Formats: sequence, C-alpha cells, structure tokens
Amino acid sequence: MKRLAELIPGRMSTQPEDLLCYGFDASGLEAAPSAVVWPQSVDDVVKVVKFAFAGDVPIIPRGAGSGMTGGTVPSKGAIILSLERMNRILEIDRENMTALVEPGVINGKFQRELERHKLFYPPDPASMQFCTIGGNVAENSGGPRALKYGVTRDYVMGLEAVLPDGRIIHTGVKTAKGVVGYDLTRLLVGSEGTLAVITKIRLKVLPMPDEIVTLLALFREVEKAGDAVRLILGQGIIPRTLEFLDSGAVHAVEKYSPVGFPQDAAALLLIELDGHPQGIVKEAARVTEVCRKLGGEVIMAEDEAAREKIWKSRRAVSPALYHLKPAKISEDIVVPRNRITEMLGILKRLGNESGITIINFGHAGDGNIHVNLMIDRNNKEEYEKAQRLVAEIFRATLNLGGTISGEHGIGLTKSAYISMEIPPAELELMKKIKGIFDPKNILNPGKIFPV
Ligand SMILES: Cc1cc2nc3c(=O)[nH]c(=O)nc-3n(C[C@H](O)[C@H](O)[C@H](O)COP(=O)(O)OP(=O)(O)OC[C@H]3O[C@@H](n4cnc5c(N)ncnc54)[C@H](O)[C@@H]3O)c2cc1C
Repeated sequence: MKRLAELIPGRMSTQPEDLLCYGFDASGLEAAPSAVVWPQSVDDVVKVVKFAFAGDVPIIPRGAGSGMTGGTVPSKGAIILSLERMNRILEIDRENMTALVEPGVINGKFQRELERHKLFYPPDPASMQFCTIGGNVAENSGGPRALKYGVTRDYVMGLEAVLPDGRIIHTGVKTAKGVVGYDLTRLLVGSEGTLAVITKIRLKVLPMPDEIVTLLALFREVEKAGDAVRLILGQGIIPRTLEFLDSGAVHAVEKYSPVGFPQDAAALLLIELDGHPQGIVKEAARVTEVCRKLGGEVIMAEDEAAREKIWKSRRAVSPALYHLKPAKISEDIVVPRNRITEMLGILKRLGNESGITIINFGHAGDGNIHVNLMIDRNNKEEYEKAQRLVAEIFRATLNLGGTISGEHGIGLTKSAYISMEIPPAELELMKKIKGIFDPKNILNPGKIFPV
C-alpha cells in the first residue's frame, strides 16, 4: 500500500475512520476495505487500476455509496476507488443538446446547472440530492420521471472508461445516431462496477417542459389506487410521474417530514403532468375524473413551494421508514402495469400470513414497487423469516411476468436470486462477458453473480 500512496500522493488513506466510512452503502451491509483512494483524473484511475491488476488486489468503484444492494461493499482486502472528487461538469452543448460530465457529479447539482440553461435531464432517483451520475450509470438508475422519459440508459450516449488492466476505452457517439459495431455503451450501463471504471459520461439532455401540474389523489382502499394507475394509463395519458405510497409509508413520512398528507388514506398517488399548458390542464381534468370515479379525493399543488414540499416528503420515504423498525429489507420488484393491483393484493396477503410488516411505495406507473420488509436484524428468527418471504415475493413477481429488480440492481443482496430470473445459458454468457473484460476478476468481485 506504500507504493499506492506514492503513486497518488495525498489521495489515499488507510486510516481506520476512512475505512469505516467507506465500507457500507444503503443496503445495511458493511465490511472494511484495505484502503480508500480519491482519484482526481483519469490518469489517477489508470495508476490505481494498474497497481491493483499487477498485485491481484480487488478494486471497488464508488460514487456516493447510496446503492441499495451492497454494490460498493468491499470484498476482503479491496481498495475503494471513490470517484467523488472527479465531479466537474465539463461541457453543456445547447446546440447538440448534450452534456459531458465526470462520474462524481451529483445528479441534483447537474439538474440545477441545466435549469440555468433551460435544459432538463429526466433521470431523478429519489436520492438525487446525493447520488452521483457515475453511480446512476453503473446502476442504470430510474426515478419517478422514468414513466414518461425512461431511465439513465436512455440518456447515455457515450462513455470513457478504464478497463481492469488499465487501458482507457471510449464508447458510443456524440451524434444523435450511431450504429457502428456492438453497443458497448449499453453493456457498461447497469454493469454495477464489474466491467470497467467509468470516468466520463456524455448525456443527452432535453428542453425544459413548459409547465408542470402536480396532483395528490387519496384513496380509502389500496386496490382502488392500483386501479387508478391502470385506468389513467389506459386512457393514453402518460404522466411524467405516477408515484404510489401505501398508508404505512404515508404515516412514516408524516412523522419524519410532515407535509399534511391525510392520515386516514389507505393509499396515495402523486401524479405529475408536464407539457404545453393547455394540454396538461385537460389531462389533469381527465386524471381527476378517473380518480374521483374510484372514490379518490384529488388535491392540486397550488404553487412551486407546495410542489417542492410534496416532493421533499416523497424523497424522504425511504429514510423515514427507519423510525418504524431498526432495519428493512428493501426490494425493488416490477410487474406489468396492469398487474399492479394483483401484486399489491399478494403483498398484503404475504404480510398478514408472515406477521412481518410490509410497506410499499414506488413508481406505480412503471409497475415498480419498492417492497420494504420491516425487521430487526438482531432478531435471527425474524430475519430468516424475512429472507424466505423475499423468495416468495420474487416467485410471485416472476409468475406475474415481472422482474426482481427495476432499478437497484443485483449487487450482493440479490445475487443469490439472480438464477430465479435469468436462465443458465444467458447467465453463462454474462459470466463470459465479465471474464473478457476482467480476466483476473479484480473489479468489484462477488457482485451480481453468486459466489
Ligand atoms: C433514499 C434513497 C432513495 C433512492 N431512490 C432511488 C430511486 O428512486 N431510483 C433508483 O434507481 N435508485 C434509488 N436509490 C439507489 C441509489 O441511490 C442509486 O442506485 C444510485 O444510482 C447510486 O449512486 P451512487 O453514486 O450512490 O453509487 P454507489 O452506491 O456508490 O455505487 C453503486 C454501484 O455503481 C458502481 N459505480 C459507482 N460509480 C462508478 C463508476 N464511476 N464506474 C463504475 N462503477 C461505478 C459501484 O461499484 C456500485 O456497484 C436510492 C437510494 C437511497 C438511499
């Protein structure tokens, strides 16, 4: 490690407090790395990666550590490669509607910078005020606006990345189109730090929408909220967000970051429409009618301040849940949109049968439900029961034609379940791809594939 410190002086630490701070993410898992490094340029990354390659030392790329599946939790002896100091917005090209950023740029900071240019970058994970664009690319993150605008993958045009042997590669194009060769950009997006270290990202950006209308719809029955999702989309209306919170989530967030959500609602939908003012007024009226027919009560946010307050509370749901129990297992299933009511019914039944409190919220318009099993990790019996419940939830999800992860990835926490969804031949192909990029298996080993 002395040699590593000499390679990037002042940008490496083996201090116990640093090892502690960089050993966990939002999954609740933790382990100490052997060192933390903070590269400031691609040259620094190359030096660290070459050092690791020569000595067969595992290396873990890290953004803000907000991942939900243990993606940055170090394996034994690993070096944490924190990209947080590579945080410059290098270019905003208004004519070509693109931006070039370093991986450590915070998503929310990028959004605010674009707004000054009347531009808009849709991917908005609820963690946007602290997660990095590099982490978003590595996880192919989504967010509430994915319903209308898609996920990170849909905005990444090209990448600069460092391979595990230290070679720098460039993928993709700067142009609106490009079909030369295999699409390595798409392969790296969502690769969870297992194929290459991403060091520059070219993103597509959009013009800012003219106007936004924000509605809150409150329902006395969870199933009615699920029906509303299906019926709104069935009318051909694509809101920019269609978020769902069950009563447990509403109660938790009201205690933590009060916004005045009614406490007697069984479920709440947060619906946002954007576009031309005249068009969205009409759409808002149709959405209101659908919700009211199902017995929902609809409230419109009066101004930007009211809108911000609602979103602040929505983004606080995940941390707010820790007030209910010391820990949670957060799952991230997706079912086809028209099966959402059915899935919510199954979750209710499984919660009742197991005695484990299940709190659901998420991006209902995408069929993406964040299923939270509230537990105490020190209670072994409860923890094991919850693990069995996770497998049952995944089985039910797959039976409905869904997927076990919409946006949080596989990392460590879901690797034991990957073969429930991916058949052997496809899994073998993925492992071979990993072997081509990383023959020594030093880049984020033990993630995605079960050991
Ligand atoms: C409160 C809360 C709300 C959240 N809401 C959402 C949400 O709405 N939608 C959503 O999709 N996710 C959400 N997440 C999960 C998380 O924020 C996202 O996965 C995010 O993209 C992770 O970014 P990060 O910078 O924290 O990455 P990290 O957690 O540091 O890393 C995540 C993975 O990416 C890899 N990685 C990071 N940087 C690089 C790089 N430069 N090169 C190669 N690999 C890299 C790491 O090795 C790791 O495997 C939420 C998390 C929290 C805590």
